[in-house]
Amino acid sequence: MDIVPLDLHFHGWLTALIQRVRRENGLLTPPLNRRTSIKDIIESFGVPHTEVGSIQVNRHLVSFAHIIEEESSVEIFPLQPPVNVLAPCLLRAKPLAAIRFLVDANVGKLTGKLRMAGFETFYDPQWQDAELAEMAEKWQCILLSRDLQLLKRKKIAFGHFVRESLPAKQLAEVIHFYGLSDKIRPFSRCMHCNGHLIAVPKQEIIDQLEPLTRKYYYSFRRCSSCKQIYWSGSHRQAMKKTLKELSQYRPLVY
Ligand SMILES: [Zn+2]
Repeated sequence: MDIVPLDLHFHGWLTALIQRVRRENGLLTPPLNRRTSIKDIIESFGVPHTEVGSIQVNRHLVSFAHIIEEESSVEIFPLQPPVNVLAPCLLRAKPLAAIRFLVDANVGKLTGKLRMAGFETFYDPQWQDAELAEMAEKWQCILLSRDLQLLKRKKIAFGHFVRESLPAKQLAEVIHFYGLSDKIRPFSRCMHCNGHLIAVPKQEIIDQLEPLTRKYYYSFRRCSSCKQIYWSGSHRQAMKKTLKELSQYRPLVY
């Protein structure tokens, strides 16, 4: 007989995720045999590897590649904020070199908000799942999505299933999840194209300003890529709202 009896326990958020998958797909049958890695067993329950923080087999920490060969007790824990993607860990030996996001179309509105807070963020609603996975690997990004199947792809080492549905709360969730509140740099990145904003003298752009902006604002920045002009008033209002949302943010409890 090739089947290994397993005592599997999912914890915290992962329990809610499994319930959600069962509601949508019914009961799943995991492929429990002697050649299945623990990663494949976990994912057969509908939980993407990107959501897993640690795995214990008979109280010992193991990696995703671990193969269970005897009757075992397996505990699977979710990632716990703040998640540091810049340091290696047992499940993700190669950390990211920088904080960089790739946004799936199902949470597309997060893009402008992340850029407004100064985070490098790539987005194109045309990108399909296979391309997103390729890019997450090639550009070394954290993929943000609400697509569980996409997050299961092997090429995606760092991904996050976005729990909140309102974009302002989604931004607060991401900043909280990755512990990024001290890395917020408003007025530094273009919301439209991800380019860097460079200070520009008012005189240089005065003919491109609306009369009221020309009258009331003195400090301007211009996108080094698409040339969009920003002034502190426009950004300050939006940023104030974001910081308020962030200070009031309480993560969803499962
Ligand atoms: Zn731009």
